[in-house]
Amino acid sequence: MSEYNWCHGPSCHKHETQDRVRGVKGQKVLRTRKIKQNQWNSRSIWGYFCNMGCYNDFAKEYMAEIISIAPRTEPLETPIEDPKKVKSEWGNYYNTTIEVRQS
Ligand SMILES: [Zn+2]
Repeated sequence: MSEYNWCHGPSCHKHETQDRVRGVKGQKVLRTRKIKQNQWNSRSIWGYFCNMGCYNDFAKEYMAEIISIAPRTEPLETPIEDPKKVKSEWGNYYNTTIEVRQS
């Protein structure tokens, strides 16, 4: 595993923040953020994206490709017991309990 990843946000290098400024005088650029890998981010989205905006930009730009990895053409279902109405202990109202059916 490399020690750093570049942020995968397609527009990361266009955000005008001080920490993205690189280069010598007269040839400055805004550069994609580098993300240091550590035990908290290396197995999550935060190992690849510097913030939620970059993550959302990536998802928007590559939505079709991402969905094609595991397309959902039918709904999924989880078998449950018949829902029960249970009177609340603390008030005059009812809660509906839903239990996953054990197979
Ligand atoms: Zn970014």
